[in-house]
Amino acid sequence: MDKKQVERYRILKLLKELSTKVGRGTEFVSLYIPPGRPLGDVSANLREEYGTANNIKSRTTRKNVLDALESIQQRLKLFREVPPNGLVMFCGAVPQGEAAGSEKTEIFVLEPPKPVPFYLYRCDSRFYLDPLLASLSDEKAVGLIALGRDEAGIGVVSGKDLRVLDVMTSGVPGKVRVGGQSARRYQRVLEQLVHEFFVRVAERANKEFVEMPNLQGIFVGGPGPTKEDFIKEGLLDYRLKDKIIDIIDLGYSGEEGLRELVNKIAPKLKDVSYAEEIETFEELKQALFEHPESVALGQQEVDKAFKQGNVKKLLISEAFDVPFLLMKCDKCDYEIFVRASERPDKCPACEGGLTIVKEESGLDHYLDLALEVGADILVFSAHSESGEQFLRSYSGIAAFI
Ligand SMILES: [Zn+2]
Repeated sequence: MDKKQVERYRILKLLKELSTKVGRGTEFVSLYIPPGRPLGDVSANLREEYGTANNIKSRTTRKNVLDALESIQQRLKLFREVPPNGLVMFCGAVPQGEAAGSEKTEIFVLEPPKPVPFYLYRCDSRFYLDPLLASLSDEKAVGLIALGRDEAGIGVVSGKDLRVLDVMTSGVPGKVRVGGQSARRYQRVLEQLVHEFFVRVAERANKEFVEMPNLQGIFVGGPGPTKEDFIKEGLLDYRLKDKIIDIIDLGYSGEEGLRELVNKIAPKLKDVSYAEEIETFEELKQALFEHPESVALGQQEVDKAFKQGNVKKLLISEAFDVPFLLMKCDKCDYEIFVRASERPDKCPACEGGLTIVKEESGLDHYLDLALEVGADILVFSAHSESGEQFLRSYSGIAAFI
């Protein structure tokens, strides 16, 4: 990941968080400001909305919307002009617990990585995230078909996920010994059944892939010659035929086959981070075996490597995206950065008291360190196969040094 990708990753993370927030009334304000819009115009529009909001019947909703509008106006004052890509603000009274009255006005201000295309003010019970999400979703996708005589899996790799779109079974019986005349007839029936299965698979693949945004290509795999027969029949949409990148021999078909296929094509998918994860994980295991001195493993070693300024690439699990505390000993110089849930009572060095210096997400902390020294970054998903292994076997953090 470069700086831009980290930025994008952080915004997506924030959007994910925002998407879980729901207001008690229609009181969450979303504001999209395109580049070049004079701030005076924005303020004037907000004053108008303030006037409209004054007529809201529910007393709490009215108060919450007015509070949100005031917070937004306050924040806008910190800007001399709208930033180059525009500005997006979300503000609302977010419930902090079950009880009514627990709401706290929260505001989120974003300078998006791509220009905001329009001006929009919206007040709803949820934040309006779609335009931002759409502008961020340029993640490349690769289509997968894992096909055998008995079953077929259709999937897509994009970003960090393998998504299984469908698994279909053919109902074609396995090899049966039939003698003489009926053997040929039986063979024809089987062929017909296989053909019908191919038609179904092709229809499904066409439906999924023809209009899929950012589809980079398709890999077709499976055991035996079935996959080649499938392609020869020419049932795939003409727009997809040119997109077939390669045909791969597999031991399995269906869902199992999709997973096998992703593992086999990983080296060819540089730009798809799911594949990058698999590849980097292999690289890590190999380096540990061949040049263990080129790897810092675990939080302590990675911290040390950052202090010495020799991190080339940081590998970190999404599981680090939880609150961490930077704590300092009151007596000696001891400093510790630790999960809030594993907070120690006393200084491990001298048993003195510890003071919290800072609280932040462990993931953010390490991403910042890596960006500072210009190190390469790979964030492992907490749910992918290699991501889970990385977390289990290597505690979710390592670095190439
Ligand atoms: Zn101490």
